[in-house]
Amino acid sequence: MNNNSHKVLFACSEIAPLIKTGGLADVCASLPMALRRANTDIKIALPGYKAVLEQIDDINFICMLDLPLGAVAICQCSIDDTDLLLICHPVFSNRAGNPYMSDDDRGWPDNPMRFALFSQAVTELSVNPVYLNWTPDLVHCHDWQTGLVPALLALHNPRPATVFTIHNLAYQGNIMHNHYAELGLPAALFHANGVEFWGQASYIKGGIAYADRVNTVSPRYAEEIQTDAFGNGLDGLLRSRQARVSGILNGIDIDEWNPATDTHLPANYSTKDLSGKQKNKAELQKRMGLPISPNTLLFGVISRLAEQKGIDVIVDAIENSDTLNYQLVVLGSGETDLQNRLNTLQQEHPEHVAVSIGFDESLSRLIEAGSDVFMMPSRYEPCGLNQLYSLRYGTLPLVTRVGGLVDTVTDYNNNNQDEANGFMIDETSPEALTDGINRALALYADKKTWKKLQQNGMASQFSWDISASLYLQLYNAAIGDAALANEQIRHAKLSS
Ligand code: ADP
Repeated sequence: MNNNSHKVLFACSEIAPLIKTGGLADVCASLPMALRRANTDIKIALPGYKAVLEQIDDINFICMLDLPLGAVAICQCSIDDTDLLLICHPVFSNRAGNPYMSDDDRGWPDNPMRFALFSQAVTELSVNPVYLNWTPDLVHCHDWQTGLVPALLALHNPRPATVFTIHNLAYQGNIMHNHYAELGLPAALFHANGVEFWGQASYIKGGIAYADRVNTVSPRYAEEIQTDAFGNGLDGLLRSRQARVSGILNGIDIDEWNPATDTHLPANYSTKDLSGKQKNKAELQKRMGLPISPNTLLFGVISRLAEQKGIDVIVDAIENSDTLNYQLVVLGSGETDLQNRLNTLQQEHPEHVAVSIGFDESLSRLIEAGSDVFMMPSRYEPCGLNQLYSLRYGTLPLVTRVGGLVDTVTDYNNNNQDEANGFMIDETSPEALTDGINRALALYADKKTWKKLQQNGMASQFSWDISASLYLQLYNAAIGDAALANEQIRHAKLSS
């Protein structure tokens, strides 16, 4: 089979710029486009959230689906010439804001029902050609919100192939068994080799256990999640499926994230002429109320405020330091305790620390462009996109030696200025971070080497086209696996 002719249904719970809480949205916006450029016939399925429906003018009703959890309307529109299928139901369309959480940072109580309903809709569209006059060869699912899809599809024969991509193993969609049963989800899937997880039902485990191929978003994280330290209780299952588990590094949309053309920036710049970066730095300092000081090293942070990201350690490191000879800008939203700690830090050090709580795309671009160093002391990091954006914007990443950060950042060691593009610390601790900060401060005095590291980063190749070709290979493997599984089940049925 020509591997460019696959029909793929891409099922995800966020897609930039329509609805975004993190890197998942960026990936689900750019990977389908790269696959389409490689001639894949792709449709994207997304819940019909209120925020999404409000942004789309031209939308067509396709059909109703009567599903075990309720009736949904399937509507279709086009984004960048790709069909977007919106799964519409009041649990999505009647609720504004974050797709998973209320403003007080608590998960919506009906999330198990909402994403089971979404998964039922994706499953039905995948096996029944009457609705779209189209059925996929492969369904590509992302994170726990779609983990039930490979599990539900395993109850069908024949079925399309499935790929399950783990963007973050810590978010699992686990529910009590009685809740699973109340939702009427299939008892046939609730066993040790299925969705059952320490007596609960786990949506992400459904994806990992049943998908033909499982992958994650960097080679290093694919190794890490098979260990006790990073496996979140699923490392045993992942090890048992080792031959089917792989890592493909995320790319970035190099047109969307380009300092030479980014319309959010007051000044554009390129590898050849970095002068615009200084103007962005001055603008960032001004906008955040910091002293405008071209020679003060400016660290930037854009992050979900969550334990994963090591924000507590940034606060600890600053609280522990005797003198502050640098500036720090933080943009983030998330845990209230971390918001409070950051706000207090800003009040105590108004000349050095500036904090903006919220989600702000435009400010995030200015931070990427205007900072000298991007700080990312994550405890774990499946891939991380911000260090990739930073490299492209000539901002040196300061990161922990984990996950995709290892696969993308090369630590400067006084001796490798032709390869290095940032700084790496060995652990998420205030001491290690302070050491990294001091190393950045020391190198900042050496403008020539600093510029070389910036140029190394800006020359990095993180285009999606490379990763998309690896996904096409993965799709081929999964389609081969599914064909075999379909055949074996057909034979077993015939002979029984
Ligand atoms: P994660 O998906 O774990 O949150 P990533 O580094 O993979 O982390 O991706 C985060 C994405 O979300 C990036 O595009 C980043 O710029 C964006 N982002 C995170 N927090 C904010 C925020 N408060 N405002 C704007 N963009 C944000």
